[in-house]
Amino acid sequence: MEPKYYPTIGLEIHAELATKTKMFCDSKNDPNEKEPNVNICPICLGHPGTLPVINKEAVKHVIKVGIAVGGEIADFTEFDRKNYFYPDIPKSYQISQYKYPLVKGGTLDGVKLTRIHLEEDTATSKHDQGDFSLIDFNRAGVPLMELVTEPVIHSAEEASSFAKELQLLLQYLGVAEANMEKGEMRVEANISISPISKSDFDIGKKYRSQTSILGTKVEVKNLNSFKSVEKAIAYEINRMAEILEKGEKVIQETRGWDEIKQKTFSQREKEESHDYRYFPDPDLPKLYISEVPEFKKEVLEKEIPELPSQKRERYKKDFGLKNEDVEMYVRGKEWGKFFEEVVSKLAEVRPLQEQEKSRGLTSASLVVLASNYVTSDLVGISKNSAERGLPAAPARQASEIFGKISAENFAELIRMIGARAISSRAAKDILAIMHKEGGDPQKIAASKNLLQKQDAAELKIIVQNIIASSPQVVADYKGGKETALQFFVGQAMKETKGAANPEKLREILLELLQ
Ligand code: ADP
Ligand code: MG
Repeated sequence: MEPKYYPTIGLEIHAELATKTKMFCDSKNDPNEKEPNVNICPICLGHPGTLPVINKEAVKHVIKVGIAVGGEIADFTEFDRKNYFYPDIPKSYQISQYKYPLVKGGTLDGVKLTRIHLEEDTATSKHDQGDFSLIDFNRAGVPLMELVTEPVIHSAEEASSFAKELQLLLQYLGVAEANMEKGEMRVEANISISPISKSDFDIGKKYRSQTSILGTKVEVKNLNSFKSVEKAIAYEINRMAEILEKGEKVIQETRGWDEIKQKTFSQREKEESHDYRYFPDPDLPKLYISEVPEFKKEVLEKEIPELPSQKRERYKKDFGLKNEDVEMYVRGKEWGKFFEEVVSKLAEVRPLQEQEKSRGLTSASLVVLASNYVTSDLVGISKNSAERGLPAAPARQASEIFGKISAENFAELIRMIGARAISSRAAKDILAIMHKEGGDPQKIAASKNLLQKQDAAELKIIVQNIIASSPQVVADYKGGKETALQFFVGQAMKETKGAANPEKLREILLELLQ
């Protein structure tokens, strides 16, 4: 059945910036501080008469994000006071940006952005201690980046994919840890649905055009994992469709996500938008970005590393890897780093032999082979060692993931597999030993007797013996029974305890059976 409603989603994402100090004072910005109210001072406590000072590092972080998404960096910008009272913002206003955000426009993961601005985080309240609430000001005044997208996302999966891509970008840029579970990145989803008219289909469009009128939106807060972003949006789309099906109207409101019930619930109805009485903060200077040397685009561009999208392109182009592998290296930076080291070491090990080239081995196919071994065998080994009590993957050090395997030894192993010096079964065993004990795969293979017998003279004798002891099979073969050849190969493998190269055996057999 064709869908009856067309969902539209716009995201508002907050990310705490990784800076040494807070947004407007020199109190430490430490998201891992467990002891409450230690990283505080009169400024971030909001005492009257104190003077905020702009943290340049935070401004630089946001400009870098702006450059990375191809947004327009403001020439003029200023900070505004957003006036409201809540116990976690007792100075009765939050310093934010309203009319002149630092960044306008840009695109990420195919989603158009509206703006990116800078503000300060609030304190955190705890309500679970008894009949009272507690306030911790460690987070008050932490630099917070807010990114707003246009309402151009049309599914729950697209929304969470966008949020993941933003997290990855912030981490690559080194501007935020953006760990959602820790509240360092917080997603709010604005969701609406609108009926798809028959004419939308008739004119051959799957969905209605951008210019169509959007439905009433609901804003869902408290989304602190990518899973809940997806689930809450899917839940809302369904809930709204049911309302419209009954002929009722969706109410514009703010809803929360109940992780336990897996449902959204109404928090407050928004009759009209809040009047925050924004006005430029008189305590802070206006910023003419291009006049501050360290804010210059040319200067900051140089500090921007290769971005996830660029890395994806490069991996596809240079290594010809499949998307899944590329994604693993882009998201798991340690894996990508290891893989690239292996590739560069592969270029240094023995050049390809003529006979290897003639059976189609190329340096490009060795690279793909290396990737297969990294993403399957090495991932498998590292998961096993994680199950044996090592910490979970993201928090692990490279040494824990890769054990004692060096990129050089790994490249050598791949080269040996490519050369058919070892069987794939033996390669797995050698890899496990390398992970645990380290070492050169050549030596391990030799000491464990895992090298495939390549010595033609030795193999020839074995094959001769087998042929001599099975005259009937020889006759069958000469009578046209092709499977007889397979029988001999099997016999020879048995004789060599699997150490012979089957291809080589076949070659010798064909020659001797002539
Ligand atoms: P508000 O003033 O309520 O915060 P904005 O117009 O500033 O609303 O938009 C906030 C967010 O909501 C943006 O991400 C925007 O893309 C999104 N949005 C706006 N209208 C809709 C809609 N009808 N459906 C879905 N998302 C919307
Ligand atoms: Mg809003």
